[in-house]
Amino acid sequence: MSNPSLLILPGDGIGPEVMAEVRKVIDWFAENRGMAFDVSEDLVGGCAYDAHGTPLTDETMAKAQEVDAVLLGAVGGPKYDSLDFSVKPERGLLRLRKEMDLYANLRPAQCFDALADFSSLKADVVGGLDIMIVRELTSGVYFGEPRGVFKEGNERVGINTQRYTESEIARVARSAFELARKRDNKVCSMEKANVMESGVLWRDVVTEVHAAEYPDVELSHMYADAGAMQLTRWPKQFDVIVTDNLFGDLLSDLAAMLTGSLGMLPSASLGAPMANGRPKALYEPVHGSAPDIAGQGKANPIACILSFAMALRYSFDKGDEATRVEKAVEKVLADGLRTADLLGQEGVAPVSTGEMGDAIVKALGEV
Ligand code: NAD
Repeated sequence: MSNPSLLILPGDGIGPEVMAEVRKVIDWFAENRGMAFDVSEDLVGGCAYDAHGTPLTDETMAKAQEVDAVLLGAVGGPKYDSLDFSVKPERGLLRLRKEMDLYANLRPAQCFDALADFSSLKADVVGGLDIMIVRELTSGVYFGEPRGVFKEGNERVGINTQRYTESEIARVARSAFELARKRDNKVCSMEKANVMESGVLWRDVVTEVHAAEYPDVELSHMYADAGAMQLTRWPKQFDVIVTDNLFGDLLSDLAAMLTGSLGMLPSASLGAPMANGRPKALYEPVHGSAPDIAGQGKANPIACILSFAMALRYSFDKGDEATRVEKAVEKVLADGLRTADLLGQEGVAPVSTGEMGDAIVKALGEV
């Protein structure tokens, strides 16, 4: 049987720096756990534009469709700000998401105990927090028609349309229920069924999918505005939250920031299962290319390393090995290692991107 395949797209700015640390982790698994991947690497974003005049070539797109998982660093930078919209670095990322039809965006909010003081909330509210927000990514108000700014009488009117089909709701609900089964078995679905018809349909379809296919999972419903309050009041009441594109955009950012730095946040975007049963999948840190610190060895590689851990869990069915990576991260943080973005205390000297990566690799063999 051939090895699972992984396409690595480091991208721009700090993307290649953090991805170099992920490479060390991948090599560790090959050498120590007999887990080899067929890894290929290609260009996306500004560097692809520099080389080919486009932020994503058709060849790279085709490769992304064939592999078992794609791991992306970050794209963009001031050098590309004046480019035409059609060839901006971000268009490469959007094309990947669109053509791979990645409809379920997984945004974990996990607070490592060593960083609990780093949150804007009290340490006992966020310490040990581990929730997963599943945001519908390819439909809803960001895509619905009609949309635009129109003339109505003697004034302009701006229109966006919230539109969901039953099948779009059902497939993202299934993603959430499947995830819950691998976690604490609880799903909370959030919409505004009190004021939006699309929310009524959302609630109905989630309830139907639950009754027919996942009765073993605990399901609750909450209005999204109440959900935002509960997320800041007592976030540990949640396990998996499933919600639409717009509410998910807001709630996932809110939940993410409960845990501290942008340099810590991984994500996954999943689509329909391929012939081999694995979902189409793109893994990436939430942060951007951080041009202000690029090339200085200051970037925190943990978000990208945790994105690889998500790939182990959700694409390669290696949940135990994903936990090993998370525990290694937890250990180095508990040991007091901090990249510059995690520094709060006076007198603690930051470690570099490479030092953090090396420490995590060393810890992989110790946890
Ligand atoms: P950013 O996430 O790149 O940076 C925001 C701030 O967080 C900066 O101060 C940066 O130094 C810091 N930061 C981010 N990641 C870090 C890490 N791993 N370690 C330490 N510090 C980190 O967002 P921005 O500054 O708004 O955007 C910069 C560029 O990135 C823009 O071109 C933007 O379009 C692009 N961008 C790309 C993505 C993506 O590729 N998914 C996402 C967001 C922004």
